[in-house]
Amino acid sequence: MKGRKLLMIPGPIEFEPDVLQAMSIATNSHVAPDFIEIFGKSLELMRAVWKSPKGQPFIISGTGTLAMDMAAANLIELGDRVLVISTGYFGKRFKDILDRYGANTTILEAPIGEVVSLDAIEKELKQGQYKFLTITHVDTSTGILVDPKPIAHLAKKYNVLSILDGVCSVAGEELKQDEWELDVVLTASQKAIGVPPGLALLMASEKAMQVWENRKTPVSNYYADWNNWLPIMRAYEERRPSYFGTPAVNLIVALETSLKIICKEGIDQRVKRHQNLAKSFRAGIASLNLEILPKTNTIAANTLSAVYYPEGINGTSLSATMVESNVIIAGGLLPEIKPSYFRIGHMGSVSSNDLIAVLSALERALIELGHPIESGKSLQAFQNGLLKIN
Ligand SMILES: *Cc1c(COP(=O)(O)O)cnc(C)c1O
Repeated sequence: MKGRKLLMIPGPIEFEPDVLQAMSIATNSHVAPDFIEIFGKSLELMRAVWKSPKGQPFIISGTGTLAMDMAAANLIELGDRVLVISTGYFGKRFKDILDRYGANTTILEAPIGEVVSLDAIEKELKQGQYKFLTITHVDTSTGILVDPKPIAHLAKKYNVLSILDGVCSVAGEELKQDEWELDVVLTASQKAIGVPPGLALLMASEKAMQVWENRKTPVSNYYADWNNWLPIMRAYEERRPSYFGTPAVNLIVALETSLKIICKEGIDQRVKRHQNLAKSFRAGIASLNLEILPKTNTIAANTLSAVYYPEGINGTSLSATMVESNVIIAGGLLPEIKPSYFRIGHMGSVSSNDLIAVLSALERALIELGHPIESGKSLQAFQNGLLKIN
């Protein structure tokens, strides 16, 4: 395995060997009894990971964007008022999707590195006659973490349904869908869920399903229409064969394997691991006098970090130099500041060993490119973070 590269971007991530192995078994029929069992079990395990015993899970071939598209297509009717709470690139994408289905959207955009205040959200909800609001749990373009709980609480107060883009958070950040009364929580396979790209995963509350059932107009997207998929999800859960569109059999076998790994670790334990590693990693970054995008650590994601390049360092050279140390990182994504920062994913199977490899590759690259830092400093800060020494 010499020369094997460590993929430390915010999705796709490093996958568990058992997950990759599950992907590679001979493709089964989508109506074979053992595949029906795997699909059914995956739906059940999703409820545990989302903490949504009452939710309706959907597993569909596609990316995270399809999960967003599916939520909008099924829930939005022409002219519905939607408040988009945006902390970066993916908030704006949600607005674009909602607009496409005829929603009447208002976007509240946080300044770069910040979140939208609860006061600003409440002020809008008070006067806006909104039907829905959307939250990006972790915006992967900025590394900003939003606390969905108080926003969902406000949504409830004003009788507004809440949709959470959890593509970069589910199975990495704290989430209690039913307790927090979030109506839709969606994600994709390749992020903290830990399965190669290709699955859109969504959990809808009973209320969201009612709103969909009570639509006055048909869903204007054929593939995403829950009329086509709900009977399929129900059939698999009841362990009956069914067909609408051929499911991604190998990916779903891998999904079941990953969900079992997640539940075996324990979802709370897993979130804690992400928090501990991220906090120590940020301490390592700070020790090099590098600045992260989020203005404070309390709104910094635990699934990835977005870090500004230091003065005088060229982004392309930094990532190219790190690749020579077999560590792959991602560049910026937010158009306004794209060339000025980089991103490191630390979710899913991530371990302290991975992050030591990242920090040491980062230090060497910075030194080689002529940036004055003290070698080993971030490693010490990271270790102290893990050991809880300040
Ligand atoms: C990655 C991501 C998406 C888009 O997912 P794709 O699988 O790339 O379509 C949407 N929202 C967030 C927060 C993401 O991190």
